[in-house]
Amino acid sequence: MSATPILELKNVVSAYGRIQALKGISIKVFEGEIVSIIGANGAGKSTTLMTICNIVKAVEGDIMYKGNRINNIGSEILPTMGLCQVPEGRRIFPRLTVLENLDMGAFFRNDASGMKDDIERVFELFPKLRERRKQLGGTLSGGEQQMLAMGRALMSRPKVLLLDEPSMGLAPLLVKQIFDIIKMINKQGVTVVLVEQNANLALQAAQRGYVLETGTVVMEDDADKLLSNPDIRKAYLGD
Ligand code: ATP
Repeated sequence: MSATPILELKNVVSAYGRIQALKGISIKVFEGEIVSIIGANGAGKSTTLMTICNIVKAVEGDIMYKGNRINNIGSEILPTMGLCQVPEGRRIFPRLTVLENLDMGAFFRNDASGMKDDIERVFELFPKLRERRKQLGGTLSGGEQQMLAMGRALMSRPKVLLLDEPSMGLAPLLVKQIFDIIKMINKQGVTVVLVEQNANLALQAAQRGYVLETGTVVMEDDADKLLSNPDIRKAYLGD
């Protein structure tokens, strides 16, 4: 783990109209880590990822990526810099095929042979997508759409992948599969920030975790310490 975070939020405030959703949060993510952000409904987890990507504007604070302030960089530019989000609800292109969706993930690239290699890599991670490569995105199952959304993000060769609720709406077996793939992607060198309602799985996959409550970080620690913390177990892990 290097000393300078690859991604850092410093006292970030963001709001919807007059309602503050993030009330000055600070988060550090180091290269190579999986960092999970857990918290109840409405705690601000999705807003955190959207603020990093400048979909929701930070009204105060600094968002630093590779040592540079990125508050004012457009959300469409960030993937070209290696910072890529897989939003909640997946948002794949329903009328494009699986292959076309994957191509869209690399819209800014013009290295045809590199893209071909990356599509192959995505198909190795998600063999189901290879089988369905000519099928329209909108006709895939929920789990397959999640795989496609992650595959599409990987086509931009991210350094940091921001995943918003990858387990949402999926059957337990598929959830396990998606988490195994997240760990595999991380082992291949991609830093991961994971937002999850399923705190148990999220902390099991992560090295460190942050607990959000109503727009504030109330705890941060190594994931295994959070997993064994009685207060966290009671509040978020169903004890
Ligand atoms: P969940 O797990 O339910 O998705 P979350 O932790 O991701 O919750 P956010 O979706 O970030 O929480 O919401 C944080 C707060 O901001 C909530 O109070 C929510 O009602 C509010 N909020 C989110 N999106 C909007 C919006 N588009 N307009 C107004 N308020 C919003």
